[in-house]
Amino acid sequence: MRCPIETQENAELLLSYSARRLNSESTAILEAHMLLCPACREFRDGQRALWEALDRWEARPVSPDFDRRLYRKIQEQEQLGWWARVFGPLRPMLLRPALPLAATACLVLVAGFVAAYTSYEEANLQACHCELADSQGCHFEVS
Ligand SMILES: [Zn+2]
Repeated sequence: MRCPIETQENAELLLSYSARRLNSESTAILEAHMLLCPACREFRDGQRALWEALDRWEARPVSPDFDRRLYRKIQEQEQLGWWARVFGPLRPMLLRPALPLAATACLVLVAGFVAAYTSYEEANLQACHCELADSQGCHFEVS
């Protein structure tokens, strides 16, 4: 048998095996392969741990007043006007103008730093040109 993990073929065999949906012949072939293949054994062990965790998992009980609260929320939504129903999902963004303002302020700060750094580099470059021109006895005028 070619390794389903290495060949990326028949990967569903491993999942079917883990879900115990594989026929006995394929199960025997795959188990014989797993004796020799550490990657498939590791996959099997991981799947086994997952299935065991799912078997142990129990959903938390719903609170006794869940239905009442749910129907109240639905009724509140139904009583809203069409305007609130359309723009209701956007309400958190509309009520929090601080977030776009903060993002804009950060953008302005970054742009300021970039502009200041760029002009500083240009000034240094111009100073170097001046020093080079002076050392060579050249004269140039800044307009
Ligand atoms: Zn394998």
